[in-house]
Amino acid sequence: MATQSKDYYGALGVKKNASAEDIRKAFRKLARKYHPDVNPNDKKAEEKFKEISEANDVLSEPKKRKIYDQLGYYSDQIDPATADAYARAGQPGGGFGGFRPGAGRGGQQEVPFDFSGFDFSDFAEGGARGAPGAGGAGGFRDIFSGIFGGGAGRGAERTGPQPGTDLEYQVTVPFWTAIRGGVIKLNVTRNESCANCHGAGRLEGSGPCPQCKGSGQVTQMGGRMKFNMQCPACGSTGKAQAVCPACGGQGVVNRVEPLEVRIKAGTRDGQRIRLAGKGNAGAHGGPAGDLYIIMRAGEHPVFQREGDDIRVVLPITAPEAALGAKVDVPTIDGRAQLRIPPGTASGQKLRLREKGVSSAANEAKRGDQIVEVKIIVQPPTDLKARELWTELQKLEPDDPRRDLWKQVGS
Ligand SMILES: [Zn+2]
Ligand SMILES: [Zn+2]
Repeated sequence: MATQSKDYYGALGVKKNASAEDIRKAFRKLARKYHPDVNPNDKKAEEKFKEISEANDVLSEPKKRKIYDQLGYYSDQIDPATADAYARAGQPGGGFGGFRPGAGRGGQQEVPFDFSGFDFSDFAEGGARGAPGAGGAGGFRDIFSGIFGGGAGRGAERTGPQPGTDLEYQVTVPFWTAIRGGVIKLNVTRNESCANCHGAGRLEGSGPCPQCKGSGQVTQMGGRMKFNMQCPACGSTGKAQAVCPACGGQGVVNRVEPLEVRIKAGTRDGQRIRLAGKGNAGAHGGPAGDLYIIMRAGEHPVFQREGDDIRVVLPITAPEAALGAKVDVPTIDGRAQLRIPPGTASGQKLRLREKGVSSAANEAKRGDQIVEVKIIVQPPTDLKARELWTELQKLEPDDPRRDLWKQVGS
């Protein structure tokens, strides 16, 4: 069994009766996983991405999907009426016997379809040669472009709709904006659909299409069969095509777009904001990708954010630490009073409940403020202070390192 028909439904992991929405979702999910930007230099991912893009290209367009459902493959050059006739004629025995995927043709992996029922041998061989070296990667479409490719002409290459890629931007949001919410402005460089050609990449040239002489259709004879096909050179318009000078045939142009993004109060560092459809425009009518904004919360000299908690380092004196004290502590609301218990050690953490950041997920919830105490001791500068420290030491000759030595052992 050497032939390869393409299982587009299988490629996207959807059922044959999947809705357009199911297909769209399945593709987006896979595209994010296999996108070449996410998998640099990964040939397998690249192949997979091509495969799902092709499947999406066909299944996301009702007309193409119908042809695919009828024939088991799709090509831009297939006339819908031909596909209908084929579907009506039935599968083998309907007079179209050889022309279907799945019929064997030993040893020629790169020829995915069997033309044996037709006098297509010249074409088939030409197509096989014209197909890109990779086994089966090109498929039916490539065989036909192999047949017609010579006449297609530069700039009239017909590529199907391609979805735009997603964009990702890291944005540093000022400390207070992340806490209280607000709007940030940024400039995003993205591909936009070319206004000059409306994303087609081509413009109508002058005069009739040289390949179809203006009829928009080309006819191929094959044995008893006559195929009417859309002219690949002009997309069945019958008019000569020229490359759009504004986008060089890409259908998209690069543009810097100023954007205003609303930041929710309590937004955390690393959080992602998705702006649907604000990624790169698709080419040739494909849907736009999404824009992801990754938040980097700005820093503050006093307050440090840890999720919804705020951390502050609070200097206190040795007497405050020993005797206990009530001191004012800065908070993101202003200030709060904190009780230092007697005998507080340096580095000890005290908690001010619900003085942290209001949660972005649940407005009723607030984080805490965690105050880390730091005892500040200066060398005594005056004689009286020195006497007092000395007296204190005599009064309480406790050795704080006693346990330490015990634990060291012998
Ligand atoms: Zn253009
Ligand atoms: Zn034409």
